[in-house]
Amino acid sequence: MPIYEYHCPDCGRQVTIHRSFSETSPPQCPICGGGNLVHLISQVSIVKSGKDRTRDLSWIDKDVAHRLGR
Ligand SMILES: [Zn+2]
Repeated sequence: MPIYEYHCPDCGRQVTIHRSFSETSPPQCPICGGGNLVHLISQVSIVKSGKDRTRDLSWIDKDVAHRLGR
C-alpha cells in the first residue's frame, strides 16, 4: 500500500497516511480529523534524485579532468 505525506494546516503537523490506489475520498488528518490535508512530495524521492545528481556531476568532473590531462 502506498504511503503519502501530508501537511495538516489545521493542527500544523506533518502526517503519513497509508492509502490504497482505489481510495478516492479526501484523506483525513489522523491527529485532529481535519480534511484540509495538503499533499507533500515524498522526501525520499527528493533525497534520491539529489544523490543521482551528485553522482552525475562527479562523472562529468572526472571526464573533464581526464580530457584536460591529455
Ligand atoms: Zn491535523
